[in-house]
Amino acid sequence: MYSHSKLSTFEQCSLKYKYKYVDKIKVLGKSVEALLGFAVHDVLEYLYTQVKNNKIPELDEIIMIYSNTWKDNYNENIVIVKDDLTEKDYFNKGVQFLIDYYMKHKPFTDNTLETEKRINIVLDKLNNINLIGYIDRLVHNKEKDEYEIHDYKTSNSMPSQQELDQDRQLALYSIAIKEAFGHDKPVILVWHYLAHGIKVTSSRTNSQLLDLKNQTIELIKKIESTTIFPHNKSILCNWCEYKTMCSAWNTEYKYKNH
Ligand code: SF4
Repeated sequence: MYSHSKLSTFEQCSLKYKYKYVDKIKVLGKSVEALLGFAVHDVLEYLYTQVKNNKIPELDEIIMIYSNTWKDNYNENIVIVKDDLTEKDYFNKGVQFLIDYYMKHKPFTDNTLETEKRINIVLDKLNNINLIGYIDRLVHNKEKDEYEIHDYKTSNSMPSQQELDQDRQLALYSIAIKEAFGHDKPVILVWHYLAHGIKVTSSRTNSQLLDLKNQTIELIKKIESTTIFPHNKSILCNWCEYKTMCSAWNTEYKYKNH
């Protein structure tokens, strides 16, 4: 089964793809950025689940849950790449993201249907090529009768509108939403860049989604026919959980089949 992150891993570095998805090597060291993303997503899921049950948690409760999630998941294997930042800095970033988001969106009345919604994207029925994904939050805008796929971003980077109009992940998710609710229904892709307090949107036509399906099928076929997995060294290696065992960085370590 494929996912957007599996496809992205292959595009970033096919050796990393091999370590992770072919050899299924489990490693302990996760990045602090991944923990920040996890903890913030976890508490926003809690927030909207409560709202669906007609309860709006106080901000203090939100911060307390975030703090507990952080404590429960922080350990000595978490990797902090940036020398000038500490665990506390990352923890505080999350606190600030949540305060800003809470103040801006309270009372959270945009008609959330589901959080962390698992979707199955059928790319090719005949050849049984599917993709799974999780939508951070699915909203139905009753006034416009539009569906909105919301995604939270905790990184500092802020892509251009042009980049968002080409973004693959949420566009793929919109294929599943259109399958479920109707191809004539508009689906809006919504990103919350929490470090900037900015919400940005994009959308795709049905013809663009068809092109995307075909491109994704081609990429999957390429992955499935790949037998040699060369490394692709880049700045992203600093956040790669396989760096310590990677043959591109460690000459002592000669990985089989590479
Ligand atoms: S450290 Fe870099 S080159 Fe090695 S597997 Fe990871 S991303 Fe690829």
